[in-house]
Order: sequence, then structure tokens, then C-alpha cells
Amino acid sequence: MVKYPLEPYRIKVVERIRTTTRAEREQILKEAGYNLFLVKGEDCLIDLLTDSGTSAMSDEQWAGLVRGDESYASSRSFFRFERVVKEITGFTHVIPTHQGRASERILFSIMGGEGKTVPNNTHFDTTRANVEFSGATALDLAIPEARIPAEEHPFKGNIDLTALEQLIEEQGTENIPLVMITITNNTSGGQPVSLENIRAAREVCDRAGLPLFIDACRFAENAWFIKEREPGQGDRSIAEIAGEIFSYADGCTMSAKKDGLVNIGGFLGLHDDELAVKAKNLLILTEGFTTYGGLAGRDLEAIAQGLEEVLEDDYLTCRINQVRSLGEAISEAGVPIVKPTGGHAIYIDARAMLPHIPPLEYPGQAFVIELYREAGIRAVEIGSVMFAHRDPETGEELPADLDLVRLAIPRRVYTQSHLEYVAEAVRAVFERRDSIHGVRITEQAPMLRHFNARFSPLEDK
Ligand SMILES: *Cc1c(COP(=O)(O)O)cnc(C)c1O
Repeated sequence: MVKYPLEPYRIKVVERIRTTTRAEREQILKEAGYNLFLVKGEDCLIDLLTDSGTSAMSDEQWAGLVRGDESYASSRSFFRFERVVKEITGFTHVIPTHQGRASERILFSIMGGEGKTVPNNTHFDTTRANVEFSGATALDLAIPEARIPAEEHPFKGNIDLTALEQLIEEQGTENIPLVMITITNNTSGGQPVSLENIRAAREVCDRAGLPLFIDACRFAENAWFIKEREPGQGDRSIAEIAGEIFSYADGCTMSAKKDGLVNIGGFLGLHDDELAVKAKNLLILTEGFTTYGGLAGRDLEAIAQGLEEVLEDDYLTCRINQVRSLGEAISEAGVPIVKPTGGHAIYIDARAMLPHIPPLEYPGQAFVIELYREAGIRAVEIGSVMFAHRDPETGEELPADLDLVRLAIPRRVYTQSHLEYVAEAVRAVFERRDSIHGVRITEQAPMLRHFNARFSPLEDK
């Protein structure tokens, strides 16, 4: 395993995690219908289900919880939150929301609608759902390299500018309410977007008179990659780079559950006054008054502090190299992964690793089950179980484009020895890959089946 810079923090509070025996895990799996979403968090020794809302807060953030001002309107905590977000992003209006999708819901209630198309490098699933719920079409325009797991590209999250210009030419600007760029591109593997690409997208938007919005969930991780990989950016601070990214945007949606280093929260950033009035009216309808938006004062305090901490270079260097070193440790053993490793997770190409399991016997799910059985580690299938779709004519189930397994790394939660344990378990499962069988679905819901489906292992044929 490559060395990574030491964690720039020490441990003040610890949370016990529990080891289970293999026999116990076998029983747990059986009871959960082999669906890891149905396994209790407590029964996972290492939980890599998601990096969202799973960050460890700092001593200063916990202190902020006590300092939180719970005044209903215009609390001190709101003003601190607003000041920090404005310093980082420069947006004129900062609207707090309980999490990212609430910002999306508000934005697309105003800007979406029937007959419209919203392009993005790749829409995150809640973004897509909110665009579509408004009646609009969500269009993914990632560069072609993004679709090839083994293809190396320093900014594999980039938006395809030629495709964007073509869309604008074909559809006309009346039916495109805004252009969005997701940093980092979560759905394509946490891959970064270059400053050059964002700047060029801004120019395309300027020529067409369209607003550009950033889905900013992992803006600090993206800025770190720009600093590391983009020519001429190495001497700038993360805050400066982030500031430049936001300077090209008319607004942003943000889930603070990622780079806010908190367990709940988000915001909508806007320049346009008229849009801000409409957004605030919708906010009051479902989230709360404009100075708390569904959050407690203490949450706003913790987000403000988290946003300051997330820009620290030593934190980001440790964070991203932690992810990278895990990727290298398993990739060197021959495990096929999405390359290069992104900011928040490792994606294993389960279809490539288990070629003897057909996509509709769910190789990703088979691997996730095996990893839990091996070591009590919870990962998530991102493949044919999650992206179930059917042939509209025949009703026949169709496999997803890729069958991936995501190991998402929570921020500041696990140490190097935890990740070495993960690497060892992945390698052990990989070693006996030929003996792994697929699964069959025995129960499923008509929508979002991955949350509740039950599986049964397929035996030797
Ligand atoms: C998590 C996420 C969202 C939605 O945020 P929530 O806080 O989960 O509602 C939107 N976009 C991206 C890229 C995300 O990763």
C-alpha cells in the first residue's frame, strides 16, 4: 500500500465498532435477504455504503453545536453561515436548505417544466429526479472517456462542450433553462472537472445567454484535483481555486453532507434577485423561514465551521490520498477498478471481475454480498440492481451499462489500518472470484428496488 500523508487530526472521541464471526454474518445476510441496505449499521465493521452525511465532525464543529443560536429568525448562526458561504462562493443570496435535494427541488420548481431540457456533465440521481419531476428532461453530456472504466483521464468529469453547443443549436435557448456542472462528477466515479472546462462552459453559456449552475457537493475535492493536475494551478490555495470556479456560475446547489463535513444540511446560492425571491417563497412553504431553511441554528454553525475546515490543504491531501492508496492497493492485486481513482470512492468493475456471472445474475450484488461475508464490510452495488429498466415493448429486464461496486470513504472516519483491512478483504474475495455465484431476485418493489429487494444465492450449475 502506498504511503499517504498522515491524518492531520488526532482522535478525541471514539465510537466502538463490532466484529462479527463468519457464522453470524451468514445469518445476518440470510435475514436481510442478502440486501446490504437491510443489514443494521451496527453489524457492519466498516461501513462504506456512502460518504454522504457520514463525516466525523471536529471539536470546533461540536463546540459550534453548543454555540448555535436557536432564534427563529435572523439568528447569529445564520449570519455566520451566510458570511462563510459568501466568502467561499461569492453568491449574492445564500438560502439554507435541509439537504442538497431540497435546493434542487426549489431550483427546478422555478426553472424546470414541460418541454425543457437541462444538460449536466452527469446528473446525480436526485438531481435527475427533480428535473424530471418538474416535467423537464435531464440530459447527461459527459465526455466519452467517462464511460470507459479503465480509461485514464485527468479530468474525466468534464462536460462535453461540443455536445453542449450542439444541443443549444438544435434545441434553441428558449427550452434550456440552465446548464449544470456537477463537481466532482459523482455518478461517473467522483471524477473532477477542470477549471478550463468550467471556464469554457461559461463562454458557451455567455454566447447563448444561458445561466450556468454548479452542483457543488464536492467542490473542495474538485478544487484539490485542479491544484494537483491542472497546469499553472499548483501554487494557488484551494479557496482561491474554489472562488474562481464559483465566479463562473450564476448559482449553485449544495449538499453540505459531503464537503460541508456535517451530517445534515445544504444550501442554494444565487446571484439573480428575482430568482432569489421566488426561491425564498418556496423555501418558506416547505423548508422554513429564510434564515434557517429546515435546519437548526446549531446545524448552520457546524456547516460554517465545516466549510472552513474542508478548504485546508492538509485535510484534502490526506483525504484524497487515502482514497487513492486504497485504489492502488486493490488495483495492484489485479482487481479491475474505475481509473483514475476519484475523490470520494473506489469503484470496482464487478462485471469485468466476475465474467462468469451474467449481468442479470447481478455480479455487483454478488461481490457486495461476498465482501460482507468475508469481512463485515458494507459496500453498495451500482449496476443492474440499482438501475433496473425494462424493454418498453417486451417488458424484458435489461442490464445497466456497467456493473460497479462502490466503496465510498466517509470523511475523517477511518484510519489507514481500517483501509488496509478493506484492501486485504477485497483481495481475498478477488482471489476466490471463480467460486462466486450470482444471485436471483426473489422480491422487489416497482421503483427504486435496490433499497428493499431480497435476493437468493444461485448455486453451482
Ligand atoms: C448527494 C448529492 C446530491 C443530493 O444531496 P442530498 O443532500 O443527498 O439531498 C446532489 N448532487 C450530488 C452530486 C450529490 O452527490
